[in-house]
Amino acid sequence: MVKLNRVRVIELVEPDFFGTTLNHNIVMVEGGPSGGIMMIDTGLPGYLDEISKYLDAWGFSLEDISDVVVTHWHPDHSGNAEEIRRISKAKVYAHADEEEYLLHPRRFDLPYDSVKEELGIGEEEFQETLRRINGISFHPVTVDVKLKGGENLADFKVIHVPGHTPGHIALHDGVVLITGDAVRAPHGEPSPPLAFFSWDYVKALKSFKRLLSLPFRYLIPYHGEVVERW
Ligand SMILES: [Zn+2]
Ligand SMILES: [Zn+2]
Repeated sequence: MVKLNRVRVIELVEPDFFGTTLNHNIVMVEGGPSGGIMMIDTGLPGYLDEISKYLDAWGFSLEDISDVVVTHWHPDHSGNAEEIRRISKAKVYAHADEEEYLLHPRRFDLPYDSVKEELGIGEEEFQETLRRINGISFHPVTVDVKLKGGENLADFKVIHVPGHTPGHIALHDGVVLITGDAVRAPHGEPSPPLAFFSWDYVKALKSFKRLLSLPFRYLIPYHGEVVERW
C-alpha cells in the first residue's frame, strides 16, 4: 500500500485483460463524510479478501469503510460496492447519470477491429477477454447518494467528467487528483481512456484535457501508475 499525502492506494492485479496485465488502484481516505474510511472504487468481484488483508495490515477492517465512491459503473470499479455496503453499512456515492447502469449493468459489445487497432491483439485473445468480462456477475449497486458534480466529500471536490461513461466522476483536493478511468497512466504516461471502451470518445478527450489542466501533485489513475508532478 502506497501512502500519498492523506490517501492510501491499494494496487490489485487483473492478469488477462486483452493480452496484458491490468492493475487496479483502489484509494482509501481516512475521515470520510460518514466518519470512517472513504473508499474510491472497489475492484472486481473476488478481490474482497485481498482488500481486507490490506486494511488489516493498516489496522482496519472492511467494517470501517463508511463511504464508497464509485467513479463509474464498470465492474472493475463497482464490483464489490454492494457487498461492502452490506458488510459495513457504508453509503454508496455515484453520479446520478450512472445509477441506471449500476442497477442494470450492461454487457460489453466491443468491435474486434477497433480493439485490434488500439491494442494490437489477436482475435482469440480478444474473444477470451470479452467472454470473461461479460461473464462477471456481481450484485447491482444501490446508490445512496446521487451526485451531480461540485459536491465536497472529505475535502475532495466531485468533478463530473463524462465520456468514458455518461456519469463518470473524478475527485480533487488540490493536491491529489483521483481520476478513475477518465485518465489512464500506462507506464506513468497520462493517457485518455481507451476509445473502444468509451461511451463518447469526444467527450472523453475533453474531460481528459480538463483533468490534466487542474493543479495537482499526485494524479492517481485507476489503471496505470501514479503520476507525480513537481
Ligand atoms: Zn471503465
Ligand atoms: Zn477500469
